[in-house]
Amino acid sequence: MMKDVSKTKKQLLEELTGLKERIAGLEESLKKYKNDKSTPNQSEKPFYDITGGKNREEVLGESEEMFRVLMENSLVGIHIIQDGVFRYVNQATADICGFSIEEIKKWRPNEFAKVIHPDDLPLIMQQANKKQTGEKEFIANYGWRLITKSGDLKWIESYSTTILFGGDPADFVMMIDITNRKKVEEALRESEERFRNLSAAAFEAIVIHERGILIRANDQYFKMFGYEPEELMGKQAVILTVAPEIIEFMKKEIAAGALGPYESIGLKKDGTKFPIEIRVREIKYEGRKVRAAAIMDITERKEAEKALQEYRDHLEDLVRERTTELARSNADLEQFAYVASHDLQEPLRMVASFTQLLAKRYRGKLDADADEFIAFAVDGANRMQRLINDLLAYSRVTTRKSPFLLIECDKVLDSVINNLKLAIDESGAIIARDPLPAVMGDPLQVGQIFQNLITNAIKFRSDEPLKIHISADLKNTEWVFSFRDNGIGIDSDQYERIFVIFQRLLDKKETPGTGIGLAICKKIVENHGGRIWVESRPGEGSVFYFTIPQLKEE
Ligand code: ADP
Repeated sequence: MMKDVSKTKKQLLEELTGLKERIAGLEESLKKYKNDKSTPNQSEKPFYDITGGKNREEVLGESEEMFRVLMENSLVGIHIIQDGVFRYVNQATADICGFSIEEIKKWRPNEFAKVIHPDDLPLIMQQANKKQTGEKEFIANYGWRLITKSGDLKWIESYSTTILFGGDPADFVMMIDITNRKKVEEALRESEERFRNLSAAAFEAIVIHERGILIRANDQYFKMFGYEPEELMGKQAVILTVAPEIIEFMKKEIAAGALGPYESIGLKKDGTKFPIEIRVREIKYEGRKVRAAAIMDITERKEAEKALQEYRDHLEDLVRERTTELARSNADLEQFAYVASHDLQEPLRMVASFTQLLAKRYRGKLDADADEFIAFAVDGANRMQRLINDLLAYSRVTTRKSPFLLIECDKVLDSVINNLKLAIDESGAIIARDPLPAVMGDPLQVGQIFQNLITNAIKFRSDEPLKIHISADLKNTEWVFSFRDNGIGIDSDQYERIFVIFQRLLDKKETPGTGIGLAICKKIVENHGGRIWVESRPGEGSVFYFTIPQLKEE
């Protein structure tokens, strides 16, 4: 319906003013023509001289024709109201209202009120009356709402004035449909409002800039940098609000169209510098491609990061200190255990051999108590010797380390089984073995693990015929060795304890041993960079697992 939506309001108003002037000119020339038919005066031409030297009848006829063509084809709705009825109405007015020209012409006095929105009616009727009665004071230009024949609401901008029509005053109205423009304005206003609301609620500073020149910003932005809006708007704000040392970097980032997030250093008006994080989006703003940036003050985050880093460094120092301390005290302890066990051996040997000598020579020659005391002394001395020997063996795991070699575990197991042949045969144990890998290690020590685990399986067998299964699986980068038996098993609450030096679960009289075997195994495994643990069910058997790192080139 609207024939031209592209014209701006200004253009339309100019067009309307032009039309009005032209009508006034025509009126004028008509009056003059009526008053002075006989004496043509060349100096009193119509307002617009379009005569081209023609006579007055011709001029008037042409002028009226031109006026008619102009009005009828105008894109502006034009009508003349007199005594409440439409004396003239053009197609554009009819189109805007949704009625035909014929329908409009038949409207009874003031029936046109039906196309005016009730809220706007009082003003329009009042103003229309003023013009129809020729009052001098009236409002010429206003916006109002029109309701079309089909009930649609349209926004209208009209310009009206009093003219003489047939000698009497009439309301000459020109109007345009500005509904689309209103809609666009509304949408624009909404998006503006949305921007304002959003950016006001935002916790970050939001700026829109074009190559560094500030076009828009929210309050947070000015607050963050300590400026008044007018100090930055339209200026190279980006340059003003970053630390001098970072300006070149920022220029490059902007030129490269970097979107971030990247960190930079903000500069407040008072010269304070503070860390910021910037995220950028390319947006269209008033038809131009500009950049919208969200700026966040990351002072707190930076401080937290710094504190965390300091704390981490401190912790690392602490751990390093403790580890060195521990290593030193471990070394001291090992040294002590070695020296003690080694140096105790000699006097102990003397005690043992002399108590044995006493027993041999004086048994039955003194009284019964003396025999018993001597027997206790012999037993104690022997036990102490065993303990000292075990302790020495334990401390030798670290003091007598040889360089690691490539060990074929199968071969090591062969020789261990060979050494234990007697015990294995006596116990009737059946040993099943899967192929074992080659690893880097100390062959004697690895052999000792195998030996201790097999000996334990034999020692702690049940009444069932003993079966031992030895195998190794590769898991990630480690070999997991397993020694499975169907012996008496271990309670789960003892899983840790059995690996501690001199810890035994059984009464010492039932099975030989001091409780050093698994402690030695643990120490050896740890020397080789592995772990050892047990899984067991009392009455069903146990599986001892330990790991040794896989060979590098495997
Ligand atoms: P020892 O054999 O001298 O007692 P170990 O350190 O080798 O010392 O073993 C500690 C304890 O762990 C043993 O006394 C025993 O109670 C338990 N144990 C070790 N191996 C087994 C096994 N295969 N089955 C059941 N119990 C075991």
